[in-house]
Amino acid sequence: MGLCNAHYYATRDPLGAAGDFTTAPEISQMFGEIVGAALADCWARAGSPADAVYAELGPGRGTLAADALRVLRKAGFAGDVHLVETSPALCAEQVKRVPDAQWHEDIDGLPKAPLLLVANEFIDALPVRQWVGSEERSLTIEGERLVFTLDGEIREDAPVRDAAVAAIARHLTQHGGAVLVIDYGHARSGVGDTLQAVRRHKYADPLADPGEADLTAHVDFEAVSKAATSTGAAVTRIVEQGEWLTRLGITARAAALATGNPERRDELALAVQRLTTANRMGKLFKVMAIHSPEWEIPAGFQ
Ligand code: SAH
Repeated sequence: MGLCNAHYYATRDPLGAAGDFTTAPEISQMFGEIVGAALADCWARAGSPADAVYAELGPGRGTLAADALRVLRKAGFAGDVHLVETSPALCAEQVKRVPDAQWHEDIDGLPKAPLLLVANEFIDALPVRQWVGSEERSLTIEGERLVFTLDGEIREDAPVRDAAVAAIARHLTQHGGAVLVIDYGHARSGVGDTLQAVRRHKYADPLADPGEADLTAHVDFEAVSKAATSTGAAVTRIVEQGEWLTRLGITARAAALATGNPERRDELALAVQRLTTANRMGKLFKVMAIHSPEWEIPAGFQ
């Protein structure tokens, strides 16, 4: 899964109607603006530390960063921008929208400073392992096809995910800051096979054409929470994306944008619906924050 996704992301921009899938920041500027407002509020309540930086894990096209930074800059945040990205194809997109950023290949490259950090649909792309009982499910080749070695009741874990979350959480505990983790997944650990492939906006066979489809697994937010607290970081509860965006004022933001741009009223209403309603992205997508114990709980989680 790790190798396939490394190849997949390195060789294309998969986002948008002409690509394989669409993410929340690509649906509407309001998503990134609300993320920016949430981080601006965290930063202000921490005493507006001048050394804080905006950072993002897997920033895609840089759309979310550009929208969030517009709001952060208005709120007086003047810090640097650090993007963690391994894909040359997506770095080329990010530089168009966030030209002043600095790039890193992994989390350890981030500066030792308070972080205003975002990870939207990043963790779902990290590799999971699958277990049937105490045996790890792996792959074998049958003729020209990859097939799973085992079937049965599947449990998933993800050492790569846990290590990434622990590294972020340690950084936040030592240097201050908060991360908003936004992804689709479940609030409680459970059983089930959640590995999936998406290509041209449709589900595909995860074992067909390795490296040519987006491979993801649902994020186990309970496991993320445990990996973070094991380092001493504070974690918030897990809130559904629809509830979080609504609590942070997406309805008011849409109304304000529609007042200035009446011709966009329908498009804005549709975007709010896609981002917040239960049968679109509102329920399956969850939001949680991990933060320094010295920083207050970010807005939207109380
Ligand atoms: N956050 C963006 C893009 C999500 S797609 C959005 O919401 O639109 C996943 C992103 O994570 C891509 O930018 C991809 O290149 C990046 N990515 C995937 N695996 C990664 C890894 N191991 N290290 C760093 N970036 C990774």
